[in-house]
Amino acid sequence: MDDKNENEQQLDVLAVFSHPDDAELSVAGTLLKLKSLGYSTGVCDMTRGEMGTRGTPELRADEALAAAKLLGLDARINLEQPDGHIWLTDESRTALVRVIRKHKPKILLTTHWDDPHPDHAETCRIVRDAARLATMKRYDFEAGLEAVKMPAIAHSLFTRLVVPSFIIDVSDFVEEKMNAIRAHASQFYSAKSDEPETRISEKNFLRQIEDRMRYFGSLIGVDAGEPFYVREALNVADPVDLLTRPMNIYS
Ligand SMILES: [Zn+2]
Repeated sequence: MDDKNENEQQLDVLAVFSHPDDAELSVAGTLLKLKSLGYSTGVCDMTRGEMGTRGTPELRADEALAAAKLLGLDARINLEQPDGHIWLTDESRTALVRVIRKHKPKILLTTHWDDPHPDHAETCRIVRDAARLATMKRYDFEAGLEAVKMPAIAHSLFTRLVVPSFIIDVSDFVEEKMNAIRAHASQFYSAKSDEPETRISEKNFLRQIEDRMRYFGSLIGVDAGEPFYVREALNVADPVDLLTRPMNIYS
């Protein structure tokens, strides 16, 4: 794995989230599953998390690399946007266009635009803009990177107000996901820590994350799941194959 932006490995799937632990909390099960299926995966963190109440940017970078190893990521990129001040600007979207053109992901995973954290909602907008702009030959022409086919975008869901387009069965990856989250040790509960308490460092936060995976799993009749929303209509090649997979009729 290479954590430098110069690494230009083609990635099948790239997860773009705001803070160094967001991808783990949201889509780690999916990234682990994709890896087990033979796909190349990467995470792009928009910021170094320097606004965080706990930990330092240096410590958080080490934790992000430790988590990347647990997830088997092929790349972990950091765009070094200002934490707490992520904005859709020419600079931020061009930075992401360059990442997309270098790594040519087929699919982007990100947050949903209705996320209550301003950084998360804005990251989602930057991803949508950059994915489209990356296809335009003359956009950022001077960087010398080739335009790409627009990647598909799947939005990881947290809000109960959006109905998932699909749920990925991640039953086999619950423990590995929770370990990748715990690699961000400065952020979560530890009896030994004397850092100030935050919402996510409360003792029951990680249990709630696991409860959510169990809930979304129950909607498709499996042990654990991660929900996604796709804005575009899904193009189904084989409706029999799709619709005869086990479902939960009470979902
Ligand atoms: Zn975040």
